[in-house]
Amino acid sequence: MPTYKAPIRDFQFILNEFLEVHKYKDLAGFAEMTPELMDTIMSEGAKLCEEVLQPLNAIGDKEGCKFSNGKVTAPPGFKAAFETYAASGWSAFTCDPAYGGQGLSEVLNMTVTEMVAGANVAFGLTPGLTHGAYNAIHIHGTEEQKQKYLPNMASGKWTGVMCLTEPQAGTDLGLIRTKAEPDKDGGYSITGTKIFISCGEHDIVENIIHLVLARLPGAPAGSKGISMFVVPKFMVGNDGSLGAHNQLNCGAIEHKMGIHASPTCVMNYEGAKGWLVGEANRGLKAMFTMMNEARIYVGIQGLGLAEVAYQNALIYAKERLQGRALKGAKFPEKIADPLIVHPDIRRMLLTMRSFTEGARALVMHTALQVDIMKRSSDPKQKELAEDFIQLMTPIIKSYFTETGSQTTNLAVQIFGGYGYIKEYGMEQFIRDARIAEIYEGANGIQALDLVGRKIPTKTGKFMRSFFHPVSEFIAENRENPEMAEFTKHLYKGLDSLQKASMWLAAESLANPDEAAGAASEYLKLFALVAFGFMWAKCAKIALAKLKIESGEKEFYDAKIATARFFMTKIMSQHYSLLASITAGVKNMEIPDCHV
Ligand SMILES: Cc1cc2nc3c(=O)[nH]c(=O)nc-3n(C[C@H](O)[C@H](O)[C@H](O)COP(=O)(O)OP(=O)(O)OC[C@H]3O[C@@H](n4cnc5c(N)ncnc54)[C@H](O)[C@@H]3O)c2cc1C
Repeated sequence: MPTYKAPIRDFQFILNEFLEVHKYKDLAGFAEMTPELMDTIMSEGAKLCEEVLQPLNAIGDKEGCKFSNGKVTAPPGFKAAFETYAASGWSAFTCDPAYGGQGLSEVLNMTVTEMVAGANVAFGLTPGLTHGAYNAIHIHGTEEQKQKYLPNMASGKWTGVMCLTEPQAGTDLGLIRTKAEPDKDGGYSITGTKIFISCGEHDIVENIIHLVLARLPGAPAGSKGISMFVVPKFMVGNDGSLGAHNQLNCGAIEHKMGIHASPTCVMNYEGAKGWLVGEANRGLKAMFTMMNEARIYVGIQGLGLAEVAYQNALIYAKERLQGRALKGAKFPEKIADPLIVHPDIRRMLLTMRSFTEGARALVMHTALQVDIMKRSSDPKQKELAEDFIQLMTPIIKSYFTETGSQTTNLAVQIFGGYGYIKEYGMEQFIRDARIAEIYEGANGIQALDLVGRKIPTKTGKFMRSFFHPVSEFIAENRENPEMAEFTKHLYKGLDSLQKASMWLAAESLANPDEAAGAASEYLKLFALVAFGFMWAKCAKIALAKLKIESGEKEFYDAKIATARFFMTKIMSQHYSLLASITAGVKNMEIPDCHV
């Protein structure tokens, strides 16, 4: 069965050496975030993930959730694990101290979020969605709503869910039909059916707070006529006590490819009592203000699963004896050499590793920008941070989930036939990873968001938050002979990205299909250059560390070797992506021929 070890040393590298979080003491709460405190928090998180959540991963997959008479039962051990998770304060981590939270930083939270995804991604959905619902109420709710719901969501006494999708309304939420009729006492009566609602019903906690998108009477058609409502499973009294069961029920749970331990529910609202959150008819916009963070969390699901898949593939590649190294036996005393002597196996392992470590650097850098946006007192610094987050969100969501999914596939390839059979636990990673490419805005939609919204905004303002630092880094380091091998590739990647951006801007003016047709490849090209930037910076740090006696030569040598692999073998795909993007949509018609 697979094992999981939290990548603590890499987290430390990113926090202390790469991001140098100690330099951000002017951000509220950062002065207390000493390396010792961060180590303690990470090691507690690692203990929970390695000892409690990971051992439940295969059980959750095998047993799944059970549905009977409207009730959903979590797999064995999941309720107790959630209680342990909540009691240790993890659900309150980044929440507002005014409403039950601990107010800790997003950047540190990323480490624990990744660990949970690596140990048991299906478990992570319950706290992840609760956090999304908490944020939505926190940003858009009234003071009374915040007081009523948030502290119990932060403590993990209650969980939260996001109810958008309906049978006819998936990506196109403008098609939502669920109705909200005003009632006599200032609330609303909610009627309609939502599908695919993760954790919509379960027996893990005593109450579930639903955030439901619905239409008010006479609301404009389409996405501008949707409002958001808070609809608790059990009514909540002013003193926080639980009252009657609301008029909502779970009609069924889906049988699905992966994340079996997370119930995906059909939810029926039959005149359920709800309250408006935020402004009428602006519910979709409100929902999307907290979507950036939710999308980054989904990206991390891809990273966490890629990490655990890589760890197990590496162990296996060192143990499994098959064939001989082509240049002569490496272990003549054994019946054969281990898989890792074969270049193709190393290609797969390094592809995986260059993704996980590059992704970790990029997402933690982005999380630090979230902290800057929320905590800085400098308006310019805040604005720049927000621009970067806006730009990177669709890239992280889409590229991390797609590449994370491919990484789990590579791990199965390294295991060969043993990877394909259930007993070794590797095929679960592929099944669990696949959904992240679909939910929280399917990946194709993320690419459209990048080319349609993020790139053109204020004539490329968001883009500049990335292009400027990369160009500056290249200019600063290109004369440094040790760095030339990295800056050379980064420069070429950036050049392809700039050419693709100019091509898109010019061509899509005449034909919007050009931007839409190129969007996914453009997002990938952007991601490659962003990873190239992260790797070049990591290499620079590692080169400097090797000059001082740190006693960690292996660690820094590995960083440089992985950076080299990424620059030469992965980022070089920018050439083919540019060629494909600029080939345009003219050859993208489906032939009208059925034979
Ligand atoms: C396990 C699971 C859990 C989920 N959890 C939740 C939840 O908690 N809450 C919730 O509200 N929903 C949830 N969903 C629903 C999920 O968010 C939707 O499935 C997703 O938004 C896509 O909608 P759809 O399935 O209707 O696909 P469609 O919208 O029909 O899309 C199908 C394909 O077409 C593409 N496409 C659609 N429109 C366009 C376009 N304009 N241009 C280009 N391509 C397009 C999409 O990218 C996609 O690849 C969940 C789904 C699953 C399977």
